[in-house]
Amino acid sequence: MNEVRVRIAPSPTGEDLHIGNVYTALLNYIFAKKNKGKFIVRIEDTDRTRLVPGAEQRILQSLKWFGLDSDEDPDKGGPYAPYRQSQRLDLYRQYAEKLVETGHAYYSFCTPDRLDEMRKKQQEKKEPTIYDGLCKKIPKNEALARSKKEKYVIRLNVPDVGTTEFTDLVRGKISFENRLLDDQVLLKSDGYPTYHLGVVVDDYLMKISHVIRAEEWISSTPKHVLIYQYLGWPLPVFAHGPILRNPDRSKLSKRKNPVWASWYRKQGYLPEAILNFLALMGWSMPDGREIFSLTEMAENFRLEEVKPAGPTFNLEKLDWLNGEYMRKMSKAALQTKIVEFIGDKYSSDLVGKTIPLVQERIKKLSDYLPLAGFFFNSPKDYEIDLSKNRSLLSNIHQKLSAVSDWKADSIGKSMQDLAQELKIPNSKFFMILRVAVTGKKISPPLNESMEILGKDETLSRLSQISK
Ligand code: GLU
Repeated sequence: MNEVRVRIAPSPTGEDLHIGNVYTALLNYIFAKKNKGKFIVRIEDTDRTRLVPGAEQRILQSLKWFGLDSDEDPDKGGPYAPYRQSQRLDLYRQYAEKLVETGHAYYSFCTPDRLDEMRKKQQEKKEPTIYDGLCKKIPKNEALARSKKEKYVIRLNVPDVGTTEFTDLVRGKISFENRLLDDQVLLKSDGYPTYHLGVVVDDYLMKISHVIRAEEWISSTPKHVLIYQYLGWPLPVFAHGPILRNPDRSKLSKRKNPVWASWYRKQGYLPEAILNFLALMGWSMPDGREIFSLTEMAENFRLEEVKPAGPTFNLEKLDWLNGEYMRKMSKAALQTKIVEFIGDKYSSDLVGKTIPLVQERIKKLSDYLPLAGFFFNSPKDYEIDLSKNRSLLSNIHQKLSAVSDWKADSIGKSMQDLAQELKIPNSKFFMILRVAVTGKKISPPLNESMEILGKDETLSRLSQISK
């Protein structure tokens, strides 16, 4: 087999990298690793009306954050640069013109008004809303002459009869009736290619061996196949992965779901855990293991085994997996991650001390401050009203002042003794103490927390309330 070269081709038309694109990127990346091939990132920025400023940068940054390092991309360059479609316009025009010359494409001068009217009529007659081929009838010379003066697009000349077929590595043979395929616009009047022309020209010129992308592109593929055939180019292998679905089977959507990579980052998910979670969409390890690294995945991955039916994207499962990853990390690594996440206004040393108390209790980095924020700042609010417990708290203060060896054990023992002395059930006693020290009804182990806070700080918190 020739060198395996795969690519993702995100469009900078959203906030950031879409989680569905992260999934596609993962499949491509793993496939490249498995086959010792190359993973390429190409930016498809030809839809100028939907371009979002800064999106390209954010997409590339997010890929880096995930560790899905590319071999060739717009920043890094590579043997087939540029990797940004807006910088390759001449190429697309050249091939569009070539298709016109060979009769496989034609100039179309229809105005938006005419197209609207055409569609309206088709809808009334319940016909498919595809271009009716009016301009196909214009003789070639006339069309060429008009193209010098009038606004035009170049359309693909799809045959009216027959079928177009391709074999999908994940789905087997797929066949489309040509009469239902639109005479797709290839080159727009602004001189930019549409996705369909851009993708074929670049995949060919960049020597892409396998086109691995999401299911939503299947219906575009027959048009691409025709373009390959008309230009006399061999087809790449196509593989359309499954679309991610919510537990209720609906597609992930911007309106309903957090879809941008930045959301996952801000929520404090670890990139490795997200990729592991995505890997489980439509694929499983031969031995059924659910937690594995990218390297382990690459060793075992077979594209043919990806299941085409939409797997369930379940955030609860991601939370669970992320928690597992956090538990598996070394204390020092988790400390670094947390400090990176919460920022340097929190003492890294103090974060380090708290790790043993929180590691088993948090699922995401963003769970850290809600659970452990009291180590850094004394509570402003208390989850239960402590005003009736002032005398108890002053008793506690007195007892704790006498603890000379400020260690969890001795603290705990002195508090047990006091609870017994005062005949207060442990659960109630410690709840009041917990809220007084941390502000919350749920906290990491209390005696250990007080040890970390230190005697002075603990006492000062107690006296603040018992005053
Ligand atoms: N630009 C398309 C996207 O945003 C690329 C589709 C493909 O991989 O062919 O996903």
